[in-house]
Amino acid sequence: MSWRTTGYLCALTAVAVALIGVGRFNCSSTSSPSEPTSTDRVFERTQPLMGTNFEIQVVHDDAAKAAEAIDAAFEEIERVESLISEWRDDSELTAVNRRGAEGPVEVGEELFEVVHRGIELSARTDGAFDLTFASCGHLWSMSKRQVPSKREIDDCLPHIDYRQVELREDDRSIALPDDDTEIGLGAIGKGYGVDRGAEVLSKHHIDDFVVDGGGDLRVEGSSIGRPWSVGIAHPRDAQRLLGEVTLSEGAVVTSGDYERYFEADGQRYHHIIDPETGFPATTSTSVTVIADDATTADALATGLFVLGAADGIELADELDGVEAMIVDDELKRHQSAQFDRYFRPAH
Ligand code: AMP
Ligand code: MG
Repeated sequence: MSWRTTGYLCALTAVAVALIGVGRFNCSSTSSPSEPTSTDRVFERTQPLMGTNFEIQVVHDDAAKAAEAIDAAFEEIERVESLISEWRDDSELTAVNRRGAEGPVEVGEELFEVVHRGIELSARTDGAFDLTFASCGHLWSMSKRQVPSKREIDDCLPHIDYRQVELREDDRSIALPDDDTEIGLGAIGKGYGVDRGAEVLSKHHIDDFVVDGGGDLRVEGSSIGRPWSVGIAHPRDAQRLLGEVTLSEGAVVTSGDYERYFEADGQRYHHIIDPETGFPATTSTSVTVIADDATTADALATGLFVLGAADGIELADELDGVEAMIVDDELKRHQSAQFDRYFRPAH
């Protein structure tokens, strides 16, 4: 695994900026110019995990300790992935999806916790984020440019329903009484992985870090005296940013219709599906959520995207510790009450 120290570490570009291949760092002009730049205190490493690139950046005096912490964080994310992936044959989640209709399947603490949180957030978003979206997820393929028929969608939609998931605390089990209902953690699992990685870094006494799970970020502390600053991609211009979020503790996650999509017959088909229609949600182009943890921010970014500006901002304003920005289909920005405390728009 190669080590890289950055010339300066002032910002991380979030989200789809990396996914759409621009991959660049931005400096926050709010950062302190008097602080000396110390390249040899900044360590950064990237590893493919959970279907994306995870990047960890750490600021620390001791290279060996930084390396050990980053190793442990990546190991933790890898371990979490092996439990919660719906794509791996041997994951706990796959066992639930295969056998959950026969009766309760006992699972470990982590899967139980993330499914539990997923159900809470499905309920809170009134099913706009729904962790049983996976029941119909197979109908769509961005890589194969596959658009399902209306009939296929209508047949499948009744199986998307988070209320079908039965969680039992006593034996920590999950049942899925509807044979065709499946759980997928595509819209929340990366956030959970980011949180677990962050927890491991903290346990290794790393005070200043960023864990970036393909645009789902968790930050802590600062970057050599400067606050962490996260560039938010413009949903229709890869060369531009909408602005920057500056944060010293917490999570910032963006979901956009420009991350994974294809165009056919003049229409953009992207990967965030409205569980009510079975088709890509149409009223938003980009949603950024700031929350204490990345698990919450990840699920809410997807849910608010589906809800759209009016309902999405109303919900963000109701939720403690959550701020959001929704860019609508006319590229107009809508923000929750305190979002401006963190956000500086680009000129
Ligand atoms: P994100 O990038 O976090 O917005 O998550 C998008 C991914 O979550 C998609 O690739 C699907 O696997 C899944 N997904 C799409 N729509 C929904 C939805 N309404 N609720 C839950 N998961 C979804
Ligand atoms: Mg999400």
